[in-house]
Order: sequence, then C-alpha cells, then structure tokens
Amino acid sequence: MEWPGAVGTFSHLSKAVHIAVVGGGPAGLRAAELCAEGGATVDLFEAKRSVGRKLLVAGYGGLNLTHGEPVETFATRYSGPDLDPRSFRSWLDTFSPRKLRNWAAELGIETFEQRTGRVYPKEMKAAPLLRRLVERLRQQGVRFHVNQRLTAIENGDGVQLRFNDGEPRSFDAAILAMGGASWPKTGSDGSWIPALKAHRVSVNTFEPANCGWEANWPDSLVPTIEGQPLKNIAAKAGDTTVRGELMLTRYGFEGGAIYQLGPQLRAAGHPELVIDLKPEVPAEVIRRKMESVRRDFLDAAAGRLKLTEATRALIAHIAGPIISIEALVDAVKTLRVPLNGPRPIEEAISSAGGVAWSEIDDQLMLRKLPGVFVAGEMIDWEAPTGGYLIQGCFATATRAAQAALAFSADH
Ligand SMILES: Cc1cc2nc3c(=O)[nH]c(=O)nc-3n(C[C@H](O)[C@H](O)[C@H](O)COP(=O)(O)OP(=O)(O)OC[C@H]3O[C@@H](n4cnc5c(N)ncnc54)[C@H](O)[C@@H]3O)c2cc1C
Repeated sequence: MEWPGAVGTFSHLSKAVHIAVVGGGPAGLRAAELCAEGGATVDLFEAKRSVGRKLLVAGYGGLNLTHGEPVETFATRYSGPDLDPRSFRSWLDTFSPRKLRNWAAELGIETFEQRTGRVYPKEMKAAPLLRRLVERLRQQGVRFHVNQRLTAIENGDGVQLRFNDGEPRSFDAAILAMGGASWPKTGSDGSWIPALKAHRVSVNTFEPANCGWEANWPDSLVPTIEGQPLKNIAAKAGDTTVRGELMLTRYGFEGGAIYQLGPQLRAAGHPELVIDLKPEVPAEVIRRKMESVRRDFLDAAAGRLKLTEATRALIAHIAGPIISIEALVDAVKTLRVPLNGPRPIEEAISSAGGVAWSEIDDQLMLRKLPGVFVAGEMIDWEAPTGGYLIQGCFATATRAAQAALAFSADH
C-alpha cells in the first residue's frame, strides 16, 4: 500500500480494527497515536506503573529530540548486524527530523536547533512533551493498561497476547515496542525476550552502547584526573577516528567521543583507545616548539603545548617517563590507552542487540509472527547520542503503525 507522506493522514480503515501496542516508551506512544489516528481501537500495555519512564530520564540532561543534519547523512548514523542502511533511510523519509519537530510543535512543544545541530525542546525537559502526548492519546480514545507485562504470544485467531494478569487477549495486529536493555529500572529490561524466543525469533544479546569504558587507573592517579575533560581531542578505535571530548572519571572514560566508538571497541578483542591530544597541532610543530628543551620534557610541554595537569598525569601513567622530544610527540599524538571493558548496561544510555533484522520484513513485521510488528530500541540497531535514538524510535514506530493498520485492513 502507498502511504501518504504527511504525518497522520491515514484514514483508510473501513472496518473495526483492534490493535495492541505493547510498551509505553516513545516508540509505543507514537505507534499508538498513529493507529488511533488511522481509526483503530488501540489498547496500550505497559509493564510499569506509568509510561515513558526512560523518556523522562532522557530529559534530565536536556531532551535531545533529533538532529538537524540532512536525512542522507542522518541515515548513516544507524548501524547493526545485517541492518540495510536504505531501510532506515526510508523510515526517516516517512517520519523525518523535520516532521518530528512539526509534530512536537503541534503538541505545543517548540524546539530549537543548537549550533551543533542537536535539536531540543525550548524547555529542555521531557515531562511536558510526555504529558501532552498522553493527553492526546487519551483524547483519541487509546486505552492505557499499566502494570501489564507481556508474557507470551500465542497461536489462535488474529494475534493473541498474554499478560501477567492471565487470560489471553485477541487483536488484529500488535506493535511491540518494549525497548532495549539499558537503565532496566525504567522498565526496559528485556523481559520480553522469552516470549519471542518461544517462536524461534532470534534476539541478539544486548550490550551497552553510548556508555563509559573502564581503564586501569592506579588509585594515586584518580585525584588528579577525576572529572577533568580532555577537550578537542581525536580518538581512534579500529579504523574509526572521531573528534570531540572525553571525560576522565575514576574508572576510565565517559563522553561523546568514546560513545561514538562503542561498536569498534566492542568488536576488538583487546579494546584500545588511541588519543591524539592535539589533533590540530602537527607533530612537526610540536618538535619545533620543544626543540630547545633538553630535559623535563613533560613539564616543559605544559606551557609550550598547553597540556593540563590531568593530561600530563595521564601521559605519565600511560607512557612512563618521557625522555626525549620524540617520546613526547608519540605520547601527545598517539596515546594508546588499553581498556578493560564497557561500564555496566544498567548505566548505558542505550543498548546494541535486540530482535535480529533477519527476523523482520521491510514493514517491520516479524516474519514468524504475521500481524506482529516491532519498533524502537528493541530491534538490533544502534546510533550515537545527538538525537538519533529518539528519532530512530519515532521513525520505526511510524512505519510499524502504518504497516499494522494496512495489515489489519487487509486481513
Ligand atoms: C540517561 C539517558 C539519557 C538519554 N538521552 C537521550 C537523548 O537526549 N536523546 C535521545 O534520542 N535518546 C536519549 N536516550 C535514549 C532514549 O531514551 C531511548 O532510545 C528511548 O527511550 C527508547 O524508546 P523505546 O520506546 O524503544 O523504548 P523504552 O523507552 O525503553 O520503552 C519501552 C517500554 O516498554 C515497557 N516494557 C518492557 N518490557 C515489557 C513487557 N514485557 N510488557 C509490557 N511492557 C514492557 C517498558 O517498561 C518501557 O516503558 C537516553 C537514555 C538514557 C538512559
């Protein structure tokens, strides 16, 4: 079926249709909205006492809703085993960053784009958006069922779902949007995995994404480096180099640069971060600035290269005594920091892993469970921070909802 490009223009249903949405995060709420707009009776089931808990957590540090870069490059931010980048491109065309901003504006949430391209609500928080979206869904007639955990999908007429309250319920279609596995206390705890595995649906193991990484800091180093940023650095893992900032912590690193390198670090047998502390200063310039120095090279570099105390302590720990200009150039331009592993998934902003793409058709329907669609972070894609996560959830939810309506209309 051809879909109208504009958001919310589906009104094709000519019969009563009943759709279940499972999971009340951004993906589930968006899917419920679209299904209700399309004329379906919608029941939304949420395992927790209230919906949108992770969305609220995301709003603590400013809700980065989407990003202003063009859709062509936007789509390349999404990765995952067997993910066809063209698919994400088509879902982003269906619900683009611009449409997301317009949608938020219709809810009365004005957004602005930072110089970096990141888009935030003017109020920065998630709570007003969540409140207005839930109000809209209620007005549309969406029925909310909280404390309802999906435990099984059963064979029978239509799509049969069983929740922790007992009896199976029957629907024309279901959209599963039960999230990934980071911050499990918000409800995204992977408790749905057995229900899909019972139907031999492959779910790739969840791993932390957009998270800190641990390094071996001796206790004596921590007081000097903890909480200190390494600004304007370049960091490399595998063949990928990114520019940005790292934050030194008591256990290792946090920050945008290392978050972006998650896929490469996870793929490495012995993860290592190679840091260029002065990407804008060529090695030759460092040699020139240091040429009159004969000893105490690291101390001399403090003034000549503007190396902070934390940076010097880090260099001394990683590279040992710096006894020549060449050793200093090496340490500044290619500081090799071995990493122990990622921080626990409980702390991660998002997760990699989830329902394997081989299980899903281009309408986001599970091949082994006709009428059951998936959306959001429970699918095996990942993306860096910058607004790509929520945008990805909204875009997949939009497609899944359109497809669930079309499926219900045809069956
Ligand atoms: C600290 C933090 C900051 C973040 N900041 C940003 C940001 O600024 N920008 C951005 O783009 N992204 C951000 N994210 C990521 C973003 O919040 C997630 O990508 C997004 O919430 C995922 O949406 P979702 O709907 O797929 O799943 P979720 O939001 O995880 O929602 C899934 C829902 O399903 C429910 N559920 C789970 N299992 C069951 C079951 N068996 N039965 C019924 N219900 C179930 C859960 O309780 C939950 O409510 C942040 C995340 C964190 C943790």
